[in-house]
Amino acid sequence: MTATFVKHLECSICAKEHSAREVHTVCSSCGKSLLVRYDLPAARSALRKDELRSRPGGFWKYRPLLPVESDDAVTSLGECVTPLVAVPETAKRLGLAELWVKDEGVLPTGSFKSRGLAMAVSRARELGVTELCIPSAGNAGGALAAYASRAGLKSHVFMPDDTPAANIVECHAYGAEVELVRGTISDAAAAMAQKRASHPHWFDISTLKEPYRLEGKKTMGYELAEQLQDELPDVIVYPTGGGTGLIGMWKAFEEMERLGWIGPQRPRMISVQSSGCAPIVRAFEAGQDRSEFWENAATVASGLRVPRAFADHLILDAVRKSGGSAVAVSDDDLLREALHVAADDGLFLCPEGGAAVAALKVLRARSQIRSDERVVVFNTASALKYVEAFQHCSVIPR
Ligand SMILES: *Cc1c(COP(=O)(O)O)cnc(C)c1O
Ligand SMILES: [Zn+2]
Repeated sequence: MTATFVKHLECSICAKEHSAREVHTVCSSCGKSLLVRYDLPAARSALRKDELRSRPGGFWKYRPLLPVESDDAVTSLGECVTPLVAVPETAKRLGLAELWVKDEGVLPTGSFKSRGLAMAVSRARELGVTELCIPSAGNAGGALAAYASRAGLKSHVFMPDDTPAANIVECHAYGAEVELVRGTISDAAAAMAQKRASHPHWFDISTLKEPYRLEGKKTMGYELAEQLQDELPDVIVYPTGGGTGLIGMWKAFEEMERLGWIGPQRPRMISVQSSGCAPIVRAFEAGQDRSEFWENAATVASGLRVPRAFADHLILDAVRKSGGSAVAVSDDDLLREALHVAADDGLFLCPEGGAAVAALKVLRARSQIRSDERVVVFNTASALKYVEAFQHCSVIPR
């Protein structure tokens, strides 16, 4: 069977086509994100959904719908299909019949960044890239460092100097060159750009500035359909930084519909941010299709500390088309919810996962989610990567 049904790369804005066989970052004419396009009619007749789903190897089972061509290029650290765990006590507390947590904390490096970086590192290696660089709020740097180590590639990680210790330690452990920068991921990106001027062969693996991290993250959508027997949830609550996962799942749903796997129904996509850094929420509420840079961004949910997402328009577009919304919650509330779920249901959520539950509470209070709706919340990392945030927090549930 064909290893992959990739056809070409297509610009998300001007639709210009680019070859998928060459190294590309962003669109060569307008500078926006490139999306991988597949020959879905051919895939539809060649693939058997149940056979694909029964394969081992975590998200790699979807290889025909992923960009990596050769088996040799696949860089794997033992990824699994992440569990969809019911949280019945939390559901009861929020007045919901059904609430599930997709627990991404069990992936290699303890966060869902491994999905995107496994894919992007594998494909970069396949295309002959030898050195990778990334600005990161934390977990992306760790995942890049791990997969680069596995692939035998060099990695350079630029992170804020107040990134959780676990992220800094793991990057060093995997042999990355680490540069700590005062400020946020935006300042880290600026420092990286400066350094790249004298290292032009470094490949920039920033989210949505290359086409393949999105393909890794879209597998969350494929897994959800698999785990829910093709009945997608009514609502997906997603803690949003760069938006890769939200945009990726939205793309996966479209692909699956064209493959004949699911119908036209879509979950309402809820984008959650911290009130200390909520550019997407502000743009959503103002009815804008782009966001503005968030000054003095600050939150313990480090994965959400992205003052401006490069693909903000794609996030806002997916949220609006889905009939969803965007919600900001305070750091106190997100930590409180993370601890509350841990105490009640035995699942310790990371601050970003706590934010998703806190947002759900807000939406229930506003009657924007009915009690009989099926809701999936994403826990995007292991809480244990954030011990400082919980250690120093004064918030105690109940
Ligand atoms: C990166 C990150 C996010 C945000 O993910 P995006 O797909 O870039 O929006 C959320 N939670 C955690 C733990 C992260 O590391
Ligand atoms: Zn373009």
